[in-house]
Amino acid sequence: MNLQERDKIVIWHPFTQLKNAPLPIFIVRGEGSYFFDDQGKRYIDAIASWWVNIHGHCHPYLTRKITEQLQTLEHTLFSGFTHEPGVQLAERLLKRLPSNQSKIFYSDDGSTAVEVALKMAFQFWSNQSITKTKIIAFENGYHGDTFGGMSVGARNVFNLPFSKLLFDVIHISLPIIGKEQNCLSEMQNALQYDDVAAFIFEPLVQGAGGMVMYSEKILDELIKQCNAKNVITIADEVMTGFARTGKFFASDYLENKPDIICMSKGLTGGVMPLGATSCSQFIYDAYISDDKMKTFFHGHSYTANPTACSAALASMDLFDNKVTFENIDRIIKHHNAFLQKIKFHKSLIEVRQIGTIIAFEIKTNEQTHYLNSMAEQVSDFFIKKGIILRPLGNIIYVLPPYCISNEDLRYIYSAIEEFLNIL
Ligand SMILES: *Cc1c(COP(=O)(O)O)cnc(C)c1O
Repeated sequence: MNLQERDKIVIWHPFTQLKNAPLPIFIVRGEGSYFFDDQGKRYIDAIASWWVNIHGHCHPYLTRKITEQLQTLEHTLFSGFTHEPGVQLAERLLKRLPSNQSKIFYSDDGSTAVEVALKMAFQFWSNQSITKTKIIAFENGYHGDTFGGMSVGARNVFNLPFSKLLFDVIHISLPIIGKEQNCLSEMQNALQYDDVAAFIFEPLVQGAGGMVMYSEKILDELIKQCNAKNVITIADEVMTGFARTGKFFASDYLENKPDIICMSKGLTGGVMPLGATSCSQFIYDAYISDDKMKTFFHGHSYTANPTACSAALASMDLFDNKVTFENIDRIIKHHNAFLQKIKFHKSLIEVRQIGTIIAFEIKTNEQTHYLNSMAEQVSDFFIKKGIILRPLGNIIYVLPPYCISNEDLRYIYSAIEEFLNIL
């Protein structure tokens, strides 16, 4: 039996309809922006393995640092104990984060980073005996697949089976061009309730919602309104963090900084699972008390796993090397030149870009966005060309590791153009 057949017997894959699912591609090796399958075929990882990979696969420096850590201290509990990688990573994240952030809470992934943020915000109020249980969130958002994450995310086909179990959230319009006024007035209405605990958002770009982008000006205004009404603001930077949008955090584009920030995905350079939630001092202060009931009773077995923290530290080292930001600028320029070239293509509704993310919304007759049949057609076309591009319905996007070469970018663009031409 080959590996794919063995896989079919024992594995349940994520986001995959099991009936008639095509056999998965057997990846045996990664190097830079490439994967190689068991037949020796090479693929360009044009979506950074679901937006996590930053410096390329099997980066020698990351590999060395992780190996050193594994030989020193692989893991320890983090309640009552501490270690160098955990402390150093918090110090270095805080240097890069907006200056109002002052504490780091570790978890395992993006969904748990969001759960921590929501619980931190709810208990911030309950510790002061204030009843605030409503959350404001954008329509069409994505904040992970746990119950809290699903509750604040879009109500769509993915969480329909659980819809009765999700907590109430006030969803407001995303301030895309033309919807700014709707969004602002919906926010004003939402803020009239005096039991709103927090406002959570993906800053400047909604990832899973289809790489939908909106302006920092409006977000600044929304945060200002929340501040005026004592509503905690939570930036979910799980996708946007670590320079995806051109600045280290999308929050760096804002004048009004969020109170809580969620990180994961690119945090370890895409090598190990790790989540982190940072907060302002005033949030933390509400938990300091002689009353034990005011403790934040939350933690995961692998909280602050030293090996994962060492991967994140090594990734931060690479960010201190100017080559990384030169690469980011290079990708931004190439994306932009291609955007200018292709933007009036007859098969496109729109092309949009922020930083190293470029997205192409393709014309289609189907109404459904997520279950659009175009998705399979797109994946197959690009896999044949040795490019990994998993679209979001009728939206193709390129979100590469920063080490991708100009030649590979040009190859991806020309394949996209070819695909658009045959539609
Ligand atoms: C991916 C993502 C999450 C969930 O992260 P996981 O590591 O997949 O649990 C949460 N928020 C945003 C904005 C994301 O893009």
